[in-house]
Amino acid sequence: MTCVSSIYRVAVLGSLGVGKSLLINQFTSSEPLGTLQECSSDSDADGVSIMVVLNEQETMLQFMDKQEDVTAATDILPEAYMVVYSCTCRVSFKAAVQICQHLKEHVQTDKSVILVANKADLARRREVESDEGRRAAFRYECKYIETSAALGLNVDELLVGVLSQIKLNLHPE
Ligand code: GDP
Ligand code: MG
Repeated sequence: MTCVSSIYRVAVLGSLGVGKSLLINQFTSSEPLGTLQECSSDSDADGVSIMVVLNEQETMLQFMDKQEDVTAATDILPEAYMVVYSCTCRVSFKAAVQICQHLKEHVQTDKSVILVANKADLARRREVESDEGRRAAFRYECKYIETSAALGLNVDELLVGVLSQIKLNLHPE
């Protein structure tokens, strides 16, 4: 039997259709990579729980993919927020920026916020350039990453990044 040392919740926010469900689904089949040595998952009413072993420490990450509404998400007190948009959809980028702004103004600053530019594989349909995403992330003190849930691009890095941010915020060096 495995003994889980910590459980962290991650709220996954962003417009409909940007790839939140596919990203979370890809986490569950994440390949071992670098420091990510083990990964197993379990789906239930609370969301998708993923066991991650990072630097020989076991952690359960619980991804909650229910709220489209950021104001509803702030009373569940997750340890981190993944704010997802599609770089093929400017409207979803604007929505993501609004969410980041809301989190910065209304949520405790010790929460990790990661701005995720998904669908990076659809280069010809791109409407939001990387620089714009990076600048928005900088303005709202978020991390920024580009992913393709469809191709599995940067998906492991996002999973490890979320966990590293949570740990860094809980135990600043
Ligand atoms: P959600 O509403 O945010 O949960 O979005 P979904 O995960 O349901 O994805 C919406 C649609 O976009 C689905 O048809 C996915 O297959 C597609 N999709 C999601 N991520 C990507 C991606 O990175 N690249 C491409 N090309 N399609 C994606
Ligand atoms: Mg979904």
